Amino acid sequence: MSTELVSNLVDAHTVLEQRVEEEPEIPATIGFDHITTLRAVPDIPVPSSAGVSDRMQRQRRKDTRPELAIRRSLHRAGLRYRICMPVTGLRRRTIDIAFTRIRLAVFVDGCFWHGCPQHATWPKANAAWWEAKILKNRERDRETTRKLEDEGWTVVRIWEHESAEDAAARLLELVRKMRTAAAPLRLVAPPPEATRTPR
Ligand SMILES: [Zn+2]
Repeated sequence: MSTELVSNLVDAHTVLEQRVEEEPEIPATIGFDHITTLRAVPDIPVPSSAGVSDRMQRQRRKDTRPELAIRRSLHRAGLRYRICMPVTGLRRRTIDIAFTRIRLAVFVDGCFWHGCPQHATWPKANAAWWEAKILKNRERDRETTRKLEDEGWTVVRIWEHESAEDAAARLLELVRKMRTAAAPLRLVAPPPEATRTPR
């Protein structure tokens, strides 16, 4: 398969994948139906067996569940945030959970799609295609992180395998710290005794 074709396929796949990611509330049963769409194009992998198809379907569902769990915890703790916020200057990139005032961008990365080093389960069938796809995702992730950091964002990436409760607790603490640091300076001078160095 030519490099260009792989790249086009990866793009097509990304668009479809993104559409699912941008609507995290859609029922889990939607799963992997875009494979059907891709089947029309030659050389595109289709699930090599019912087993693989099931596995991919589960994988897709798992991608959104941890994010929802984390969002629920943050919401319960009283935090408000934007979801699926577009990254300026990069096409089809969105921040999963964005705290715009303190410029904190949170991504919840699926172990399969983003190539988690602990759970990388590279499919054996159509291995080259999947490898290209996952490597491209990882490169996109790095590019997105760099772009946001250049613009003064703090970027936190969470793997889907992490405990949602732990991740939410960590985020909560970080948001509090960042909000304190970003609090406006006092315009009124403190009383003199407060400025004296303690002995
Ligand atoms: Zn993982």
